Amino acid sequence: MEERFDCIVVGGGIAGLSAAMVLARANKRFLLIERGEFCGAKNVSGGVLWGSDLERLVPGYSTDADAGFERFVGHRRLTFLDDQSSFSLDFKSGHFHETPFSGVIVLRARFDEWLATKVQEAIDASSVADESFLATNVLVDRVIQEDGRVTGIQAGEEQFFADCVILAEGVNNLLTRQVGLQPDYVPADHVAVGVKEVIGLDRTVVEERFQLDGLAGMTNEFVGYATAGVEGGGFLYTNRESVSIGLVLGMKDLREKRVKPYDILNDFKSHPAVADTLRGGEVLEYSAHVVSTGDMGSMPKQLYGDGVLVVGEAGHLLMNSGRAIQGMDYAMRSGILAAETVVEAAADVDFSSSSLRRYEQALEASFVMKDLKGFQDAVHLLHDPIMYEKMPAVLCDFGRSFFTVESEPTEKAIKSFRKAAKKHLTTWELVRLSAKAAKSL
Ligand SMILES: Cc1cc2nc3c(=O)[nH]c(=O)nc-3n(C[C@H](O)[C@H](O)[C@H](O)COP(=O)(O)OP(=O)(O)OC[C@H]3O[C@@H](n4cnc5c(N)ncnc54)[C@H](O)[C@@H]3O)c2cc1C
Repeated sequence: MEERFDCIVVGGGIAGLSAAMVLARANKRFLLIERGEFCGAKNVSGGVLWGSDLERLVPGYSTDADAGFERFVGHRRLTFLDDQSSFSLDFKSGHFHETPFSGVIVLRARFDEWLATKVQEAIDASSVADESFLATNVLVDRVIQEDGRVTGIQAGEEQFFADCVILAEGVNNLLTRQVGLQPDYVPADHVAVGVKEVIGLDRTVVEERFQLDGLAGMTNEFVGYATAGVEGGGFLYTNRESVSIGLVLGMKDLREKRVKPYDILNDFKSHPAVADTLRGGEVLEYSAHVVSTGDMGSMPKQLYGDGVLVVGEAGHLLMNSGRAIQGMDYAMRSGILAAETVVEAAADVDFSSSSLRRYEQALEASFVMKDLKGFQDAVHLLHDPIMYEKMPAVLCDFGRSFFTVESEPTEKAIKSFRKAAKKHLTTWELVRLSAKAAKSL
């Protein structure tokens, strides 16, 4: 007998699991397929999950000591590096301690697996508990289409059919390409490589070294020397008993400069501002993953078709505007909106692309597309060598002058800043940067 579901979700990352939670709560019969041994097994993320959608999916998670996050964001720092100095913007505030938290630091293997258990609980509580499944260790090979309409998926010899398929397969979106929504060619300057190490430290060492109170954690992003002249940035996030440290590096620039991400990461780790924080730590894990840059030029031409919806990074929904990397919160919101669309389409018994278009409209009205569109200039600004090469040098030179006290008459700050800017930037670059920054940030 043909296996038929209301919906099939391909991918058990954050986007897929968020969609699954909404489907389970709406008593829909669905099949979620994840190729990893368990949800999260294949996933890499720095990472901070921003926003309050997690509270919508798992109400009260912040007071659950066993919830899947490592720490909540209680302290943020943005650091500009040259070869020996660091200049930081640092922000710590009591408001970060209010629940729901504005961001939680996660290790994906643990977080996704925990979220999957919450989805399973929602399935068990639904009226179709025996008819919805989370299937792991299964690779979806292809999407089945009949007369241009998506009707199911094939995994090995097995075929499964549904009214709608949600593609939540992440950035290597082979199935999204297969159904013709994404062109085969994504320019190399629209994708980056993320490399990350998890470095183990005793819990007390993490808390004392980073001055953390309870489950509060720190996020630190880095610009400048961290990437050795390659477009991109670095990050360090505190977990319960480890720190995640890594880089996101532009693919095209890496190729052109013929440098290896791992060598750059090692140099970054030995910078005086970073080495001190890692002292005595042991590398527990190393991972690498492709990541979108947030340039909308890499997005599929549309995120819906007859019988199909594309969510999360499969749709290149990610943004790095300089304030934070936002990929997981976009994955979560898009997964929720796609599943809500499926529920509405089921009520109308219409899964045509004109009915599923509602998903794109809901996404347009949400913070995801509003921010992606509103901050494209900022995304492009971060790709400008002035930002990742010259600005850090200006700020570190200024910092050296501002924070050094000598037995000489002290220079006014504005004069020190002008001197530092003049040393590294032409007047034209300074004007261009000020105009771009004012417009984009
Ligand atoms: C180094 C790094 C740091 C990052 N830091 C942050 C951060 O701090 N904050 C943030 O918000 N974002 C961050 N991101 C981005 C974030 O990780 C992604 O945007 C997010 O994981 C996207 O979620 P997703 O569910 O769409 O895709 P994924 O998390 O990639 O999940 C896709 C899932 O689909 C499965 N799959 C794929 N193909 C198939 C198939 N054919 N059959 C079955 N299963 C399949 C995969 O195994 C995977 O589990 C970072 C990314 C990297 C690489």
